[in-house]
Amino acid sequence: MPIATVNPATGETVRTFDAQGPEEIERCLADAAAAFASYRATDFAERSALLTGAADLLEADIEDIARTMTTEMGKPLAAARAEAAKCVKAMRWYAQHAESLLADELPAEADVRDSGARAVRARYRPLGVVLAVMPWNFPLWQVVRFAAPALMAGNVGLLKHASNVPQTALYLGGLFTRAGYPSGCFQTLLIGAGAVEAVLRDSRVAAATLTGSEPAGRAVASVAGSEVKKTVLELGGSDPFVVMPSADIAQAAKTAVTARVQNNGQSCIAAKRFIAHTDVYDEFAERFTAGMAALRVGDPMQDSTDVGPLATEQGRTDLEELVDDAVRQGASVLCGGRRPQGMERGWYYEPTVLADISETMRIDQEETFGPVATLYRVADLDEAVERANHTPFGLSSNVWTRDADEIERFARDLQAGGVYVNGMTASHPALPFGGVKRSGYGRELSGHGIREFCNVTTVWQA
Ligand code: NAP
Repeated sequence: MPIATVNPATGETVRTFDAQGPEEIERCLADAAAAFASYRATDFAERSALLTGAADLLEADIEDIARTMTTEMGKPLAAARAEAAKCVKAMRWYAQHAESLLADELPAEADVRDSGARAVRARYRPLGVVLAVMPWNFPLWQVVRFAAPALMAGNVGLLKHASNVPQTALYLGGLFTRAGYPSGCFQTLLIGAGAVEAVLRDSRVAAATLTGSEPAGRAVASVAGSEVKKTVLELGGSDPFVVMPSADIAQAAKTAVTARVQNNGQSCIAAKRFIAHTDVYDEFAERFTAGMAALRVGDPMQDSTDVGPLATEQGRTDLEELVDDAVRQGASVLCGGRRPQGMERGWYYEPTVLADISETMRIDQEETFGPVATLYRVADLDEAVERANHTPFGLSSNVWTRDADEIERFARDLQAGGVYVNGMTASHPALPFGGVKRSGYGRELSGHGIREFCNVTTVWQA
């Protein structure tokens, strides 16, 4: 894949970039290692001032960077602005809270009396240079949700961003430099996926985090495993959205539309499989389909647009193949199911709802990375839980019910890293984020996220 900005709304190549060669990569690795040697010893006040400075710069740049993101990957401009603002919030949150999140832990005296220690504590120390391999779908947020806690913990970062968002990648490298971070603390590597292995195997790199697809996660984790290096993986999802009879059906259907088409349907935590109890299935299906059909597809730079193009031509082809396979095997198309008429340029696809899904259809088990929803009818609570868990993924989940026993059942039994009740999944700096099964492992955000790339050190004193 060339490193280039290609506008998904037009298909035009806006700008291409040369990948960095071995000498430049070596210089980045050396700078990162040198930066870690001194940055690791900074105190929280210094780190906090730097990150707050970066947040202030980003806040001033929101309009420009939002336009860059929309040009590179097609998300509606309003969503791009919101993404940048969310990054500012997360940076400030970690600048404020990192010190307490990483405070020394003192075990209860009674628990350690027999250890022989006069004093003992667990201290969170940074791991070193962390390689971040990131996707294009939230090109600023995915990076910041790694970088803010990593830098506050005293680590330094090397970013290998997706090849189709190079300008956002370069902006991020420059942002931390402009904010006054010592040289080498956060650098963007302009490299293709094929160059990741050598960087990860380099002894100066301590760990890696990858947000992206399952194949990419498997590749990076295999290399890291063979080097015995820590990884965090944030991979794909096929989140269920379960609607039970006691739910507010109108509100559920409205939220379902947003949950499915946010970011033009290309979000790991988008609800993708809509599972309705038979008593409310028809009403939910009708309202949800009407909501999906009413969305305005168009130029993502226009404020009136709800759904822009898919980020890449290949992404649209992949989505079309999933829909076509399902339709060939008997799925009903309640709306959409094709490219919008009269929009020849750009990689657009109509918001689509499919029903009558069977288990032989690829769409039943694979992730739909675009504005396509599947509908399932279930007879009772047991079947709802079973259907929700019937996926290789386990990122998050959404359930709509006012019944306390049902809420408890979902919270106990859904195989996912999140259970969102009467709402839709959304990440927040203070809440842990991550998945189980093939959605990955480890957590980002909150105290759990900042501790992932720490050496939890026992300091024992006689
Ligand atoms: P992708 O193709 O896996 O790419 C993600 C990153 O991995 C890119 O930087 C890519 O580089 C790199 N990469 C790909 N193959 C690699 C390999 N074999 N070795 C090393 N690096 C490799 O994913 P995407 O299309 O950008 O993003 C979509 C996927 O990300 C979806 O499955 C989505 O659900 C998932 N996602 C998950 C989360 C989460 O938090 N769980 C969040 C967002 C997205 P190139 O661009 O150079 O190929």
